[in-house]
Amino acid sequence: MNQPRRVILLGSTGSIGESTLDVIRHMNQSDGQHFELVGLAAGTRSETLLSQAAEFGVDSIALADPSSLQNDGSVPDSHTLYSGPQSARQLVEAVAREGDLVVAAIVGSAGIDAVLASIDAGCDVALANKETLVAAGSLVMPRARERGIHLLPVDSEHSAIFQCLQGSHGEREIERLVITASGGPFRGKARDTIRKATREQALAHPTWSMGPKITIDSASMMNKALEVIEAHWLFDLPADKIDVIVHPQSIIHGFVEYVDGSVLAQMGPPDMKTPIQYAMTWPERVDGCSRKMNWIELRSLVFEQLDHEAFPPVQQALEVIRKGGTAGAVFNGANEVAVEAFLADDIPFGGIHDLVTEAVESIEVKEIRSLADVEAADTEARAFVRERIVRIMSDSNDISTVGSENG
Ligand code: NAD
Ligand code: MG
Repeated sequence: MNQPRRVILLGSTGSIGESTLDVIRHMNQSDGQHFELVGLAAGTRSETLLSQAAEFGVDSIALADPSSLQNDGSVPDSHTLYSGPQSARQLVEAVAREGDLVVAAIVGSAGIDAVLASIDAGCDVALANKETLVAAGSLVMPRARERGIHLLPVDSEHSAIFQCLQGSHGEREIERLVITASGGPFRGKARDTIRKATREQALAHPTWSMGPKITIDSASMMNKALEVIEAHWLFDLPADKIDVIVHPQSIIHGFVEYVDGSVLAQMGPPDMKTPIQYAMTWPERVDGCSRKMNWIELRSLVFEQLDHEAFPPVQQALEVIRKGGTAGAVFNGANEVAVEAFLADDIPFGGIHDLVTEAVESIEVKEIRSLADVEAADTEARAFVRERIVRIMSDSNDISTVGSENG
């Protein structure tokens, strides 16, 4: 039997992180040890991180917010703990060896520098953290190509397209890529109704169980917008060759239309363990622990046009691709802050789109020459949106004060 492949898992306590551990558990138990976990990184939830480290015998761990450690007991002496906002990158720099696999499942632009460090260390990257490509695709893709690194998509739609592209000879053969969207909890609803949605309504995704940020992005269709930009970088195709179609059953995850009229689609039940495992075992396929298709239960596959009036972010994303430079970093950074504010009940659901639109329209797009340019654009977008949120909150407090004085 071959040596097990060394794996570093970034974002281990999240939805993708936990599913990745399920895949590793299953594969290591089923027929010998396929993977050896050598590093784990998380943002918070130190208790979960420490129990994962104990279960998988991992000595090197990273925690972005170490404040939660105080209540959770101490880290064993045998462990090396990296802590603080740079900790995931520091972990990669310390532990990664040429040929390892890094599963990048941190949420948001916080994951960018660890992905770049993984490429620099010569590791293949199973990439779930789509915000990395949205904000910094123009840095990540050339660096991966120069280093001969495989960037293996974990996002289900991109995994589907990646699979449908095996054996293709590049752009001249491709008519377009199509990413499917479940439509989320607000499919078929009017724009005005959607804008007033509550947090509970927005968090109730019909087909996928995911972390809170991507669940809100799925309700606003921002997730599809980010995925269109992610596809542009991963598959090196222009905006006019990437399309989105609504497919409520989430069985077909994506397809490639070839110039000769053939269409290749990839299907499977909505279970992230399938694309996670494929990214980890590529180019091989092995027995897995994800859900299998039940053809008896499946009665029909439905496709609908996306309602761009109700869900404007996808068209915005095409414009972001055309603008290039730091436009993606601004689009993403603004959205991250707006989603946090919506989840904290500080702004209404419709406010997310308004704030992102204001940010992309107001902030100047610059060229990206280094990570510092991406970080500057991300910081500017976050500050811009935060400042407006403070204003929105103080305006609404004024209104409620006036209301109570009058009442
Ligand atoms: P999640 O919120 O469930 O988990 C995020 C993980 O990142 C957690 O472990 C958290 O502790 C960690 N983290 C956050 N900030 C960090 C930091 N600064 N340093 C280190 N770790 C940090 O999110 P998720 O749903 O698992 O999504 C993770 C990524 O995968 C996102 O980019 C998302 O868009 C993408 N993705 C998720 C799914 C899904 O089904 N959940 C599907 C496709 C793509
Ligand atoms: Mg997806």
